[in-house]
Amino acid sequence: SAKEKGRNNYQFFSEDMAFIAARKTALEGDLNRAVINKEFTLHYQPQILAKTGEIIGMEALIRWQKKDGSIVSPGEFIPLAEETRLILPIGEWVLYTACLQAKKWHDDGNSHLKLAVNLSSLQFMDDGLIATIQQVLKKTGFSASSLELEITESVALDDAEKAIARMQTLREIGVQIAIDDFGTGYSSLNYLKRFPLNNLKIAQPFVQDMATNPRDMSLVEAMIFIAHSLDMSVIAEGVETEEQLALLKELGCDEIQGFLFSKPLPADRFTKLLMNGVTSVKVI
Ligand code: C2E
Ligand code: MG
Ligand code: MG
Ligand code: MG
Repeated sequence: SAKEKGRNNYQFFSEDMAFIAARKTALEGDLNRAVINKEFTLHYQPQILAKTGEIIGMEALIRWQKKDGSIVSPGEFIPLAEETRLILPIGEWVLYTACLQAKKWHDDGNSHLKLAVNLSSLQFMDDGLIATIQQVLKKTGFSASSLELEITESVALDDAEKAIARMQTLREIGVQIAIDDFGTGYSSLNYLKRFPLNNLKIAQPFVQDMATNPRDMSLVEAMIFIAHSLDMSVIAEGVETEEQLALLKELGCDEIQGFLFSKPLPADRFTKLLMNGVTSVKVI
C-alpha cells in the first residue's frame, strides 16, 4: 500500500540520515585529532596570465590525509570545520604555511608570484583575523601586497557593514581580496557595488558550460565586462579545455586556472616546475 511504501521510504531516508550523522560524528573526532597531529598539507594550483601563459601566482588548497591513508576532500571537511569552529586553528595554519612557502619561492627568484588563500566566512568575520594576518606576515616576512584572500559572497550574509569594514582594513594593510565562486551566491551585484574587491573569480559551472551553452557564454562575457568596468581583474576557474581557453581569451579574461594547465600540486612539485624554468605555459 501507499502507506507502507511511505513508511519504507521514510525508513530508507532515516537510515541514510543515521549513516550521514554517524560519519559526521566520526569525522568530527578525526578532525580534532588531525589538528593536533598536523595531518594537513597544502597543494598549490598555478594561476596563469591568459595573454602570455606566464605563471603569475598560485592558490593554496588544503589536503587532509588521515593516518589510515584515506583522503577526505575539503568539500566534505571544511563545512564540518566551520560548524565546529576548528576552521580557526586550521585556517591559521593554512595562512602561515602558505605564506612561509610562498616566501621561499619569492626568495628563490620568483618574487612576482601572488599567493591566493581561501578564507571561510567564520574566519573572515572572526575578531582575531587582522591580528593573525599581521602576525603571519611579520613571522614569515611575506609581503602583504603579494597576498590575496579569497572570500565568497556568503561572508556578508550576517553583517554586511562589518564585512565591508573588514575588507577596507585588509586593503589598508595592502592585502588583495578576490571574490570566489562568483555568480553562485546571493545578491552578487549588490555586493560588487559595495565590496572593495580586486579580483573576481568566475565560478566553475559557468566556465565548464560556456563552450556548449550560449547562456553561460553570455553570462561569462557579462561578468568580465562588469569586473573590468569596476577596475577588477577576472580569473576563470576550472578551465579544462583548449576551447574554453580560446573563448576566455577572446572575451578578454585576464587570468586562467584549471586542469588544462595543472592540477593543484604538492609544494615540492610546484618548486620543480619553477626550478625547471617553467614560469610560463604554452597558450594557443
Ligand atoms: P575553491 O576555492 O573554489 O577551489 C577550486 C576547486 O576547484 C579546488 O577543489 C580545485 O582543486 C578544483 N579545480 C581546480 N581546477 C579545476 C578544473 O579544471 N576542473 C575541476 N573539476 N576542478 C578544478 P578542492 O581543492 O577540492 O577545494 C574545494 C573547496 O574547498 C575550495 O573551492 C574552497 O572553497 C575549499 N577550500 C580548499 N582549501 C581551503 C582552505 O585552505 N581554507 C578554506 N577555508 N577553504 C578551502
Ligand atoms: Mg578559492
Ligand atoms: Mg572557486
Ligand atoms: Mg569556494
